[in-house]
Amino acid sequence: MKIVDKIGFDEILLQLAEEASELSQAALKLRRARMGINPTPITCEKANLHLLEEIADVTLCFGILNLSDTEFDYIEHTAKKKYRRWKKRLGIDKE
Ligand SMILES: [Mg+2]
Repeated sequence: MKIVDKIGFDEILLQLAEEASELSQAALKLRRARMGINPTPITCEKANLHLLEEIADVTLCFGILNLSDTEFDYIEHTAKKKYRRWKKRLGIDKE
């Protein structure tokens, strides 16, 4: 049995939102550890590992959502478009 069949799509969305929030917090903590302006007892190494764990959690939720090939294609296309736009804004790409 799949996890989504056991607890339902809406609970996966809830889990994704929770994990995305934790990912956000982990990114902020790593930045704080790296900058050292407002010191934290957590080392950069531990903060980085925590970030990787939260990326894994979010990635796991994506997998459980059981997205279709069309939806994955849309995500890939959108990410590429936004990557090009970001580079353009930074003046890296002149397109
Ligand atoms: Mg998590």
